[in-house]
Amino acid sequence: MDDCLFCRIASGEVGADIIEERPTAIAFRDINPQAPVHVLIIPKEHIPQIKDLKPEHCEVLADIFSLMRDIGISEGIDMRGYRIVCNIGEEAGQEVEHLHFHMMGGRFMKWPPG
Ligand code: AMP
Ligand code: ZN
Repeated sequence: MDDCLFCRIASGEVGADIIEERPTAIAFRDINPQAPVHVLIIPKEHIPQIKDLKPEHCEVLADIFSLMRDIGISEGIDMRGYRIVCNIGEEAGQEVEHLHFHMMGGRFMKWPPG
């Protein structure tokens, strides 16, 4: 998708602070961090949101969760705790229509979220 920001980051056309990559997924730092650690994990393929997932996306979902597990360790937040957020659609505040998971840590989190 030429007009999708996260597709352009995944292809390398737009620069980002990439911290890790897997065959089907990539992780980079959020440009507007809401916590000391704020990483976005995305599929390289353009999947707009959860309703667009198909059975063949099993591998990409496994890559995403494996990446999040490893980032928790490499960012030093795995023992302290962290939050994974996936905003879906307008009411949740999804701004970028390319499936992504926010991984935030390094501070205490409030519940319920705003
Ligand atoms: P969401 O509101 O869930 O769609 O989240 C989109 C996220 O993308 C926000 O937290 C933005 O700060 C982040 N973002 C937007 N543009 C960039 C960029 N060029 N590089 C890294 N993160 C970005
Ligand atoms: Zn995209």
